[in-house]
Amino acid sequence: MSERKQIYLDNAATTAVWPEVVEAMLPYFTEQYGNPSSLYFFGQNAKNAISDARARIAKHLNATTQDIYFTACGTESDNWALKATADAYQSKGRHIITSAIEHHAIVHSTEWLAQQGYEITYLPVDADGLIDPATLEAAIRPDTILVSIICANNEIGTLQPIRELAAIAHAHGVLFHTDAVQAVAHLPIDVVDLDVDMLSGSAHKFHGPKGVGFLYIRKGVRTRSFLHGGAQERKRRAGTENVPGIVGMAAALDACMARFDQRVAHEVVLRDHLIDRVLAEVEHVRLNGHRTLRLPNNVNISFEFVEGESLLLSLEQQGVLASSGSACASGSLDPSHVLLAIGLPHEIAHGSLRLTLGEETTIEDIDYTVEAIKQVVEQLRKMSPLFEDFVAGRKAVHAVK
Ligand code: PLP
Repeated sequence: MSERKQIYLDNAATTAVWPEVVEAMLPYFTEQYGNPSSLYFFGQNAKNAISDARARIAKHLNATTQDIYFTACGTESDNWALKATADAYQSKGRHIITSAIEHHAIVHSTEWLAQQGYEITYLPVDADGLIDPATLEAAIRPDTILVSIICANNEIGTLQPIRELAAIAHAHGVLFHTDAVQAVAHLPIDVVDLDVDMLSGSAHKFHGPKGVGFLYIRKGVRTRSFLHGGAQERKRRAGTENVPGIVGMAAALDACMARFDQRVAHEVVLRDHLIDRVLAEVEHVRLNGHRTLRLPNNVNISFEFVEGESLLLSLEQQGVLASSGSACASGSLDPSHVLLAIGLPHEIAHGSLRLTLGEETTIEDIDYTVEAIKQVVEQLRKMSPLFEDFVAGRKAVHAVK
């Protein structure tokens, strides 16, 4: 029996753990399984592995080694950055600024902070998903303590002018955090050049294992312990370290950065080929996110008169795995807050598809996917009463490219 075709185009949800990463991790499950807090050599081997991983990760980000703190995921890093910093700086003020297109790890943290009496400003974005730095300047108040802006959007791929935004926050003496979970290993990240105070990352978005992430906290930023217990992570994040995970995260980042230029160039060519073909060959579609200021592997397109969930399921039948928005948001029938924030009407937001490529994706995969999309969209539109109305001239088409 021939194997079922599978084209994985959901690398923003998670990525495959590369074999060299698994290989680097294995000894820390089976041989070097000591607890890094144990004083005998067996524990010290594990401790050294963590120190080595911390130094390598820091180097890739141009950070000071001691400023990298390991966490269990990007969600934890985001929660820590917001909640613990809000707590540590509350005597200065209780106002936090973020954007309308953050990941739920930020959105739900700010909603929780609002319940605790903090005031949150959500900066709007334009139709491409970009924040106008002038809106940040205007939103800062004497009681603003923190600005948190996503570096690269997980749904529409738009890249924010982080350096410029951080400079504005700092000119007013306000701390700046960026959720770089989709950006690390996909864009060059230099924390000194960006001049950010905190930056979140997560290994499973760049071919490392699930269940491990990091938070960069610049020296001098006051932050409370997020988990209380042992003295791990310089008493700032208690809990026995995920040694294999941390080793795997460093190995994954090493591998990604070693072939960064080729990988990104390959993804950009395929991304643009996919965008160009769909825009040229399918009617009533719209590219979401900025055309060039976007993640190298992100494509997000809305198809009018098509329901996103049906599109996904039909594509899956053809072996193409994609997403209708953020993986974390799937299962919810509400349209994505990111697509609404860029001004899409509900019905168009519902017909959106996110395809995120990887180093393994080939041009044949892309061409196959375009043919599958064309076929599936045509079939679904044939069953759509809205499309029927449109064809009969009874309903005006939305302004879509
Ligand atoms: N932030 C962004 C931008 C993300 O895309 C994700 C995951 O999709 C997260 C945070 C959460 O990361 P994790 O899955 O490691 O908790």
